[in-house]
Amino acid sequence: MIKVEQISKSFNNLEILNNVSFEIKRGDFVGVMGPSGSGKSTLLYSISQMDSVSGGRILFEGRNLSEMPEVELSEFRLTKMGFVFQNAQMLKNLSIFNNIILPGLIAKKETVHIIRERASKLMKRMEIEGLEERDVREVSGGQLQRASICRAMINNPEILFLDEPTGALNSAATDQVLAILEDLNHEGMTIMTVTHEPRVAAKAKKVLYIQDGQIAACKEFLTVTDHERELDKWLMELTH
Ligand code: ADP
Ligand code: MG
Repeated sequence: MIKVEQISKSFNNLEILNNVSFEIKRGDFVGVMGPSGSGKSTLLYSISQMDSVSGGRILFEGRNLSEMPEVELSEFRLTKMGFVFQNAQMLKNLSIFNNIILPGLIAKKETVHIIRERASKLMKRMEIEGLEERDVREVSGGQLQRASICRAMINNPEILFLDEPTGALNSAATDQVLAILEDLNHEGMTIMTVTHEPRVAAKAKKVLYIQDGQIAACKEFLTVTDHERELDKWLMELTH
């Protein structure tokens, strides 16, 4: 689905990503771990082309995103990729429901009726129905993060990118988000999530460990069980 070929990224002549290559297959669940400042978020933004790369290319279903005209790229991002950020990044002057439908309204691909119906279904599924008219500041962190997953899903994306989705959540709220991600992946959604929590990465089928802007190690799990212990051992070996 996505081929990342030797991408590099510099900010002010400082190299943040250095020759990173890997592939994401349809239905994959990729976890990205690594020390703070190692380039995890930059990698996510580069792959999704929210941020340009300094070198290399990203192929999405064979199409080179770096060469796509800006208008087409924006539409591509809006309809094929969903984003979830650590602090949800919802608009504070809109209700939860209006935040969720906004990317659908911007895409203008479907009728408002269809978008609203999908939003309601998603909210029900994420167990936040009833919060439609609430202000962003009137819901819990976990509810807000689940709302931001609804927003990321509103245009039926093909891949979901998440940057530390549970970073601001307590343990119970983290479990809820994890169960949702696991469910979505079982239904075929391709997922790539940055996380510093082994508990979250343990749900992934493939874990990339980023260090100094490079993939220092990659682990693939063959069985679909909870890999937390195996992952802990791997991380211990990597960091000691
Ligand atoms: P991580 O998500 O792994 O903690 P980031 O990808 O956010 O790391 O950042 C990697 C490095 O790139 C850091 O040193 C950070 O300061 C730098 N960086 C990130 N974004 C920018 C930017 N827009 N301008 C300059 N430097 C940046
Ligand atoms: Mg980050």
